Amino acid sequence: MDYQAPRGTQDILPEDQTCWRYVREKGEAIAQRYGYSRIDTPTFEDARLFTRTVGEETDIVTKEMYTFADRGGSDLTLRPEGTAPVCRAYIEHGMASRPRPVKLYYLASIFRYDRPQAGRYREHHQFGFELFGEADAAADAEVIEMAWRFYRELGLITLPVQINSIGCPECRSAYLSALKNYYATCLDTACSDCKTRYHKNPLRLLDCKKPDCRAAAVKAPHAVEYLCQDCKIHFDKLIAFLGAVEIPFEVNHRLVRGLDYYSRTVFEIQPAEEGAQSTIGGGGRYDSLIGQLGGEHTPAVGFATGIERIIINLKRQNVAVPGMPAPRFFIAWLGDAAGLAAFSLTAILRQAGINLIQSLSGRSLKAQLRQASSLGAEYALIIGDSELCKQEVVLRDLLRSTQRSLPLEGIVESLRSV
Ligand SMILES: [Zn+2]
Ligand SMILES: [Zn+2]
Repeated sequence: MDYQAPRGTQDILPEDQTCWRYVREKGEAIAQRYGYSRIDTPTFEDARLFTRTVGEETDIVTKEMYTFADRGGSDLTLRPEGTAPVCRAYIEHGMASRPRPVKLYYLASIFRYDRPQAGRYREHHQFGFELFGEADAAADAEVIEMAWRFYRELGLITLPVQINSIGCPECRSAYLSALKNYYATCLDTACSDCKTRYHKNPLRLLDCKKPDCRAAAVKAPHAVEYLCQDCKIHFDKLIAFLGAVEIPFEVNHRLVRGLDYYSRTVFEIQPAEEGAQSTIGGGGRYDSLIGQLGGEHTPAVGFATGIERIIINLKRQNVAVPGMPAPRFFIAWLGDAAGLAAFSLTAILRQAGINLIQSLSGRSLKAQLRQASSLGAEYALIIGDSELCKQEVVLRDLLRSTQRSLPLEGIVESLRSV
Protein backbone atom coordinates (compact mmCIF):
# COMPACT_ATOMS: atom_id res chain seq x y z
CA MET A 1 0.00 0.00 0.00
CA ASP A 2 1.58 3.26 -1.14
CA TYR A 3 -0.49 5.75 0.82
CA GLN A 4 -1.23 6.26 4.48
CA ALA A 5 -2.89 9.05 6.43
CA PRO A 6 -0.18 11.67 7.15
CA ARG A 7 1.76 11.22 10.40
CA GLY A 8 -0.19 12.59 13.36
CA THR A 9 -3.56 12.46 11.59
CA GLN A 10 -6.27 9.82 11.79
CA ASP A 11 -9.30 8.56 9.95
CA ILE A 12 -12.47 8.59 12.01
CA LEU A 13 -14.09 5.32 10.95
CA PRO A 14 -17.83 4.59 11.08
CA GLU A 15 -17.41 2.55 14.27
CA ASP A 16 -15.69 5.54 15.94
CA GLN A 17 -18.52 7.87 14.98
CA THR A 18 -20.79 6.80 17.86
CA CYS A 19 -18.33 8.43 20.30
CA TRP A 20 -17.91 11.48 18.11
CA ARG A 21 -21.64 11.94 17.74
CA TYR A 22 -22.10 11.55 21.49
CA VAL A 23 -19.52 14.25 22.29
CA ARG A 24 -20.87 16.54 19.56
CA GLU A 25 -24.44 16.24 20.78
CA LYS A 26 -23.51 16.85 24.43
CA GLY A 27 -21.38 19.86 23.43
CA GLU A 28 -24.11 21.35 21.30
CA ALA A 29 -26.71 20.78 24.01
CA ILE A 30 -24.60 22.54 26.63
CA ALA A 31 -23.81 25.41 24.24
CA GLN A 32 -27.52 25.91 23.71
CA ARG A 33 -28.31 25.78 27.41
CA TYR A 34 -25.69 28.42 28.25
CA GLY A 35 -26.74 30.67 25.38
CA TYR A 36 -23.88 30.18 22.89
CA SER A 37 -24.39 30.49 19.12
CA ARG A 38 -22.27 28.54 16.67
CA ILE A 39 -19.62 30.22 14.55
CA ASP A 40 -17.43 28.61 11.87
CA THR A 41 -14.30 30.33 10.67
CA PRO A 42 -11.95 29.35 7.80
CA THR A 43 -9.46 26.52 8.27
CA PHE A 44 -6.60 28.89 7.42
CA GLU A 45 -5.96 32.54 8.22
CA ASP A 46 -3.37 35.24 7.64
CA ALA A 47 -0.27 33.92 9.46
CA ARG A 48 0.14 37.21 11.35
CA LEU A 49 -3.18 36.66 13.14
CA PHE A 50 -1.47 33.92 15.14
CA THR A 51 2.13 35.16 15.38
CA ARG A 52 0.91 38.44 16.88
CA THR A 53 -1.68 37.07 19.29
CA VAL A 54 -0.50 33.64 20.40
CA GLY A 55 2.98 35.11 20.98
CA GLU A 56 6.17 35.22 18.90
CA GLU A 57 8.07 33.19 21.50
CA THR A 58 5.49 30.50 22.24
CA ASP A 59 6.04 26.87 21.20
CA ILE A 60 2.99 27.10 18.97
CA VAL A 61 4.44 29.93 16.88
CA THR A 62 8.11 28.91 16.94
CA LYS A 63 7.75 25.16 16.38
CA GLU A 64 4.23 24.01 15.64
CA MET A 65 2.43 26.12 13.04
CA TYR A 66 1.65 24.94 9.53
CA THR A 67 2.47 28.12 7.64
CA PHE A 68 2.74 28.26 3.87
CA ALA A 69 2.74 30.77 1.05
CA ASP A 70 -0.17 30.31 -1.34
CA ARG A 71 0.18 30.79 -5.09
CA GLY A 72 -0.49 34.51 -4.69
CA GLY A 73 2.34 34.82 -2.16
CA SER A 74 0.14 35.35 0.93
CA ASP A 75 1.44 33.80 4.15
CA LEU A 76 -1.30 31.59 5.52
CA THR A 77 -1.46 29.37 8.59
CA LEU A 78 -3.68 26.37 9.30
CA ARG A 79 -5.59 27.26 12.48
CA PRO A 80 -3.34 26.25 15.45
CA GLU A 81 -5.92 27.42 18.02
CA GLY A 82 -9.51 28.60 17.88
CA THR A 83 -9.73 31.86 19.80
CA ALA A 84 -7.86 34.32 17.56
CA PRO A 85 -9.97 33.48 14.45
CA VAL A 86 -13.20 33.97 16.42
CA CYS A 87 -11.90 37.35 17.66
CA ARG A 88 -10.97 38.29 14.09
CA ALA A 89 -14.52 37.42 12.96
CA TYR A 90 -16.03 39.28 15.96
CA ILE A 91 -14.27 42.48 14.87
CA GLU A 92 -14.75 41.99 11.12
CA HIS A 93 -18.52 41.56 11.47
CA GLY A 94 -19.03 44.36 13.98
CA MET A 95 -20.34 42.03 16.68
CA ALA A 96 -19.46 44.64 19.31
CA SER A 97 -22.82 46.27 18.48
CA ARG A 98 -24.76 43.11 19.40
CA PRO A 99 -26.40 42.71 22.83
CA ARG A 100 -23.77 41.70 25.38
CA PRO A 101 -22.44 39.29 26.30
CA VAL A 102 -21.85 37.86 22.83
CA LYS A 103 -21.42 34.10 23.28
CA LEU A 104 -19.99 32.04 20.43
CA TYR A 105 -18.94 28.42 20.16
CA TYR A 106 -17.12 26.45 17.49
CA LEU A 107 -16.23 22.89 16.63
CA ALA A 108 -13.10 23.00 14.50
CA SER A 109 -9.96 21.22 13.32
CA ILE A 110 -6.77 22.45 14.97
CA PHE A 111 -3.37 21.92 13.33
CA ARG A 112 -0.06 21.74 15.18
CA TYR A 113 3.20 20.22 14.03
CA ASP A 114 3.66 18.38 17.32
CA ARG A 115 5.46 15.12 18.08
CA PRO A 116 2.64 12.59 17.65
CA GLN A 117 1.86 10.52 20.76
CA ALA A 118 -1.21 9.12 22.49
CA GLY A 119 -3.90 11.79 22.46
CA ARG A 120 -1.73 14.27 20.55
CA TYR A 121 -2.35 14.72 16.88
CA ARG A 122 -1.15 17.10 14.20
CA GLU A 123 -4.78 17.56 13.26
CA HIS A 124 -7.20 17.37 16.15
CA HIS A 125 -10.62 18.79 16.91
CA GLN A 126 -11.81 21.21 19.54
CA PHE A 127 -15.01 22.50 20.97
CA GLY A 128 -14.42 26.11 21.96
CA PHE A 129 -16.63 28.62 23.80
CA GLU A 130 -15.92 32.37 23.77
CA LEU A 131 -17.78 35.00 25.81
CA PHE A 132 -17.27 38.65 24.77
CA GLY A 133 -18.15 41.91 26.48
CA GLU A 134 -18.23 41.07 30.17
CA ALA A 135 -15.39 41.96 32.54
CA ASP A 136 -16.99 40.64 35.73
CA ALA A 137 -15.59 37.53 37.40
CA ALA A 138 -19.09 36.03 37.14
CA ALA A 139 -18.36 35.48 33.44
CA ASP A 140 -15.15 33.57 34.23
CA ALA A 141 -17.05 31.50 36.78
CA GLU A 142 -19.89 30.74 34.37
CA VAL A 143 -17.42 29.55 31.71
CA ILE A 144 -15.61 27.33 34.23
CA GLU A 145 -18.90 25.98 35.56
CA MET A 146 -20.04 25.17 32.00
CA ALA A 147 -16.75 23.35 31.27
CA TRP A 148 -17.12 21.34 34.46
CA ARG A 149 -20.76 20.41 33.70
CA PHE A 150 -19.82 19.43 30.14
CA TYR A 151 -17.43 16.71 31.38
CA ARG A 152 -19.92 15.65 34.05
CA GLU A 153 -22.70 15.27 31.49
CA LEU A 154 -20.40 13.25 29.26
CA GLY A 155 -19.98 10.89 32.22
CA LEU A 156 -16.28 11.74 32.72
CA ILE A 157 -14.74 11.91 36.15
CA THR A 158 -12.30 14.80 36.35
CA LEU A 159 -9.97 16.24 38.99
CA PRO A 160 -10.90 19.55 40.64
CA VAL A 161 -10.57 22.49 38.23
CA GLN A 162 -7.05 24.00 38.40
CA ILE A 163 -7.27 27.78 38.53
CA ASN A 164 -4.78 30.64 38.77
CA SER A 165 -4.59 34.36 38.10
CA ILE A 166 -1.67 35.71 36.09
CA GLY A 167 -2.76 39.32 36.63
CA CYS A 168 -3.12 42.17 34.20
CA PRO A 169 -0.34 43.86 32.17
CA GLU A 170 0.19 46.36 35.03
CA CYS A 171 0.74 43.95 37.90
CA ARG A 172 2.34 41.25 35.80
CA SER A 173 5.57 43.18 35.29
CA ALA A 174 6.26 43.14 39.05
CA TYR A 175 5.59 39.42 39.07
CA LEU A 176 7.82 38.78 36.08
CA SER A 177 10.70 40.62 37.79
CA ALA A 178 10.23 38.49 40.91
CA LEU A 179 10.10 35.38 38.75
CA LYS A 180 13.31 36.33 36.93
CA ASN A 181 15.08 37.15 40.20
CA TYR A 182 14.16 33.73 41.50
CA TYR A 183 15.15 31.86 38.34
CA ALA A 184 18.46 33.74 38.07
CA THR A 185 19.65 31.58 40.99
CA CYS A 186 18.79 28.24 39.38
CA LEU A 187 19.06 28.88 35.65
CA ASP A 188 22.19 26.72 35.22
CA THR A 189 20.17 23.55 36.02
CA ALA A 190 17.30 24.52 33.70
CA CYS A 191 16.77 22.91 30.27
CA SER A 192 17.86 24.75 27.13
CA ASP A 193 14.25 25.74 26.27
CA CYS A 194 13.90 27.30 29.71
CA LYS A 195 17.10 29.29 29.26
CA THR A 196 15.48 30.89 26.21
CA ARG A 197 12.16 31.33 28.06
CA TYR A 198 13.96 33.13 30.86
CA HIS A 199 14.81 35.94 28.46
CA LYS A 200 11.82 35.88 26.14
CA ASN A 201 8.80 34.39 27.93
CA PRO A 202 9.54 33.92 31.67
CA LEU A 203 5.95 32.95 32.58
CA ARG A 204 6.38 29.75 30.59
CA LEU A 205 9.25 28.68 32.89
CA LEU A 206 6.52 27.55 35.26
CA ASP A 207 4.97 24.92 33.04
CA CYS A 208 8.09 23.20 31.67
CA LYS A 209 7.55 19.44 31.95
CA LYS A 210 11.25 18.49 32.43
CA PRO A 211 11.90 17.05 35.96
CA ASP A 212 14.61 19.56 37.01
CA CYS A 213 12.55 22.49 35.78
CA ARG A 214 9.45 21.19 37.56
CA ALA A 215 11.39 21.04 40.82
CA ALA A 216 12.51 24.64 40.33
CA ALA A 217 8.95 25.76 39.52
CA VAL A 218 7.58 24.37 42.80
CA LYS A 219 9.54 26.96 44.79
CA ALA A 220 8.97 29.87 42.40
CA PRO A 221 7.04 32.95 43.59
CA HIS A 222 3.25 32.83 43.16
CA ALA A 223 1.51 35.18 40.71
CA VAL A 224 -1.47 35.67 43.05
CA GLU A 225 0.82 37.34 45.59
CA TYR A 226 1.68 40.08 43.09
CA LEU A 227 -1.84 40.91 41.91
CA CYS A 228 -2.93 44.55 41.90
CA GLN A 229 -6.05 45.51 43.88
CA ASP A 230 -8.46 45.05 40.94
CA CYS A 231 -6.96 41.71 39.90
CA LYS A 232 -7.11 40.47 43.48
CA ILE A 233 -10.78 41.45 43.82
CA HIS A 234 -11.48 39.71 40.52
CA PHE A 235 -9.78 36.50 41.67
CA ASP A 236 -11.53 36.53 45.06
CA LYS A 237 -14.89 37.02 43.33
CA LEU A 238 -14.19 34.13 40.98
CA ILE A 239 -13.48 31.88 43.97
CA ALA A 240 -16.71 33.00 45.65
CA PHE A 241 -18.77 32.31 42.51
CA LEU A 242 -17.23 28.87 42.03
CA GLY A 243 -18.06 28.12 45.65
CA ALA A 244 -21.65 29.26 45.12
CA VAL A 245 -22.17 26.64 42.40
CA GLU A 246 -20.09 24.03 44.26
CA ILE A 247 -17.48 23.53 41.57
CA PRO A 248 -14.46 21.79 43.11
CA PHE A 249 -11.26 23.72 42.33
CA GLU A 250 -7.66 24.12 43.43
CA VAL A 251 -5.39 27.12 42.99
CA ASN A 252 -2.40 25.91 40.96
CA HIS A 253 0.37 28.50 41.16
CA ARG A 254 2.27 26.93 38.26
CA LEU A 255 -0.66 27.16 35.84
CA VAL A 256 0.03 29.79 33.13
CA ARG A 257 -1.31 28.27 29.84
CA GLY A 258 0.75 28.29 26.66
CA LEU A 259 -0.56 31.41 24.93
CA ASP A 260 0.48 35.00 25.50
CA TYR A 261 -2.93 36.63 25.32
CA TYR A 262 -4.31 35.50 28.67
CA SER A 263 -4.83 37.91 31.55
CA ARG A 264 -6.15 37.34 35.08
CA THR A 265 -8.00 33.99 35.14
CA VAL A 266 -6.49 30.84 33.64
CA PHE A 267 -7.84 27.34 34.25
CA GLU A 268 -7.42 23.72 33.21
CA ILE A 269 -9.30 20.48 33.76
CA GLN A 270 -7.66 17.06 33.93
CA PRO A 271 -9.23 13.61 33.82
CA ALA A 272 -9.18 11.64 37.06
CA GLU A 273 -7.39 8.49 35.94
CA GLU A 274 -4.12 7.47 37.50
CA GLY A 275 -0.96 9.30 36.59
CA ALA A 276 -2.84 11.87 34.57
CA GLN A 277 -0.55 14.54 33.20
CA SER A 278 -2.93 15.25 30.42
CA THR A 279 -5.26 18.19 30.26
CA ILE A 280 -8.55 17.68 28.45
CA GLY A 281 -9.58 21.30 28.42
CA GLY A 282 -8.77 24.77 29.64
CA GLY A 283 -9.04 28.44 29.00
CA GLY A 284 -9.00 31.82 30.59
CA ARG A 285 -9.60 35.53 30.29
CA TYR A 286 -8.14 37.51 27.39
CA ASP A 287 -9.19 41.12 27.87
CA SER A 288 -6.61 42.71 25.57
CA LEU A 289 -6.88 40.41 22.55
CA ILE A 290 -9.70 42.18 20.68
CA GLY A 291 -7.95 45.53 21.17
CA GLN A 292 -4.65 44.03 20.04
CA LEU A 293 -6.34 42.91 16.82
CA GLY A 294 -7.62 46.42 16.13
CA GLY A 295 -11.09 46.19 17.68
CA GLU A 296 -12.38 48.36 20.52
CA HIS A 297 -11.32 47.14 23.97
CA THR A 298 -13.56 44.18 24.81
CA PRO A 299 -13.16 41.97 27.87
CA ALA A 300 -13.49 38.29 27.01
CA VAL A 301 -13.15 34.84 28.49
CA GLY A 302 -13.20 31.39 26.91
CA PHE A 303 -12.70 27.66 27.12
CA ALA A 304 -11.63 24.95 24.66
CA THR A 305 -11.54 21.18 24.89
CA GLY A 306 -9.98 18.52 22.67
CA ILE A 307 -12.46 15.99 21.34
CA GLU A 308 -9.88 13.23 20.75
CA ARG A 309 -8.72 13.58 24.37
CA ILE A 310 -12.31 13.38 25.59
CA ILE A 311 -12.87 10.20 23.58
CA ILE A 312 -9.68 8.56 24.90
CA ASN A 313 -10.89 9.28 28.42
CA LEU A 314 -14.44 8.08 27.76
CA LYS A 315 -12.87 4.74 26.75
CA ARG A 316 -10.43 4.67 29.70
CA GLN A 317 -13.25 5.36 32.12
CA ASN A 318 -15.56 2.83 30.43
CA VAL A 319 -18.33 5.35 29.88
CA ALA A 320 -21.27 3.67 28.14
CA VAL A 321 -21.88 5.59 24.93
CA PRO A 322 -25.25 4.96 23.26
CA GLY A 323 -24.75 3.15 19.94
CA MET A 324 -26.26 4.08 16.62
CA PRO A 325 -29.35 2.02 15.77
CA ALA A 326 -29.08 -0.53 12.94
CA PRO A 327 -31.78 -0.35 10.24
CA ARG A 328 -34.74 -2.40 11.50
CA PHE A 329 -35.86 -3.71 8.11
CA PHE A 330 -34.24 -5.45 5.18
CA ILE A 331 -36.08 -6.05 1.90
CA ALA A 332 -35.36 -9.36 0.18
CA TRP A 333 -36.86 -10.44 -3.13
CA LEU A 334 -36.90 -13.27 -5.63
CA GLY A 335 -37.52 -12.84 -9.38
CA ASP A 336 -37.23 -9.81 -11.64
CA ALA A 337 -40.84 -8.60 -11.28
CA ALA A 338 -40.63 -8.83 -7.48
CA GLY A 339 -37.26 -7.09 -7.63
CA LEU A 340 -38.80 -4.11 -9.38
CA ALA A 341 -41.69 -4.02 -6.87
CA ALA A 342 -39.24 -4.27 -3.96
CA PHE A 343 -37.18 -1.39 -5.36
CA SER A 344 -40.26 0.81 -5.59
CA LEU A 345 -41.53 -0.26 -2.14
CA THR A 346 -38.14 0.60 -0.59
CA ALA A 347 -38.33 4.11 -2.01
CA ILE A 348 -41.88 4.59 -0.67
CA LEU A 349 -40.96 3.35 2.81
CA ARG A 350 -37.85 5.53 2.98
CA GLN A 351 -39.88 8.57 1.96
CA ALA A 352 -42.20 7.70 4.84
CA GLY A 353 -39.18 7.93 7.16
CA ILE A 354 -38.58 4.22 7.72
CA ASN A 355 -34.90 3.13 7.87
CA LEU A 356 -34.23 0.11 5.76
CA ILE A 357 -31.71 -1.64 3.53
CA GLN A 358 -32.70 -3.35 0.33
CA SER A 359 -31.09 -6.28 -1.37
CA LEU A 360 -29.54 -4.92 -4.54
CA SER A 361 -29.18 -8.25 -6.29
CA GLY A 362 -31.42 -11.29 -6.65
CA ARG A 363 -29.27 -13.85 -4.87
CA SER A 364 -30.79 -16.86 -3.14
CA LEU A 365 -33.24 -16.06 -0.36
CA LYS A 366 -30.89 -17.74 2.12
CA ALA A 367 -28.01 -15.48 1.07
CA GLN A 368 -30.22 -12.39 1.29
CA LEU A 369 -31.45 -13.31 4.79
CA ARG A 370 -27.86 -13.93 5.90
CA GLN A 371 -26.99 -10.45 4.63
CA ALA A 372 -29.97 -9.01 6.56
CA SER A 373 -28.78 -10.64 9.81
CA SER A 374 -25.17 -9.54 9.36
CA LEU A 375 -26.33 -5.92 8.90
CA GLY A 376 -28.19 -6.18 12.20
CA ALA A 377 -31.74 -5.91 10.81
CA GLU A 378 -34.55 -7.13 13.06
CA TYR A 379 -36.97 -7.98 10.28
CA ALA A 380 -36.84 -9.03 6.65
CA LEU A 381 -39.59 -8.09 4.24
CA ILE A 382 -39.72 -10.77 1.56
CA ILE A 383 -41.37 -10.40 -1.84
CA GLY A 384 -41.57 -13.17 -4.45
CA ASP A 385 -43.89 -13.75 -7.40
CA SER A 386 -46.69 -15.24 -5.28
CA GLU A 387 -46.59 -12.31 -2.79
CA LEU A 388 -46.68 -9.93 -5.71
CA CYS A 389 -49.76 -11.72 -7.06
CA LYS A 390 -51.53 -11.43 -3.70
CA GLN A 391 -50.33 -7.83 -3.20
CA GLU A 392 -48.65 -8.67 0.09
CA VAL A 393 -45.19 -9.12 1.67
CA VAL A 394 -43.86 -11.63 4.16
CA LEU A 395 -42.59 -10.05 7.38
CA ARG A 396 -39.96 -12.33 8.88
CA ASP A 397 -38.72 -11.83 12.44
CA LEU A 398 -35.02 -12.64 12.07
CA LEU A 399 -34.38 -13.20 15.77
CA ARG A 400 -37.34 -15.48 16.49
CA SER A 401 -37.52 -17.04 13.01
CA THR A 402 -41.28 -16.48 12.82
CA GLN A 403 -43.13 -14.90 9.94
CA ARG A 404 -46.50 -13.56 8.82
CA SER A 405 -47.99 -11.88 5.76
CA LEU A 406 -48.84 -8.21 5.55
CA PRO A 407 -50.96 -6.62 2.81
CA LEU A 408 -49.13 -4.01 0.71
CA GLU A 409 -52.13 -1.78 1.25
CA GLY A 410 -51.35 0.24 4.40
CA ILE A 411 -47.82 -1.20 4.67
CA VAL A 412 -46.32 2.03 6.07
CA GLU A 413 -48.74 2.01 9.02
CA SER A 414 -48.26 -1.74 9.54
CA LEU A 415 -44.47 -1.39 9.73
CA ARG A 416 -44.66 1.60 12.05
CA SER A 417 -46.60 -0.49 14.55
CA VAL A 418 -44.24 -3.50 14.35
ZN1 LIG B 1 -3.57 43.60 37.85
ZN1 LIG C 1 12.67 23.50 31.21
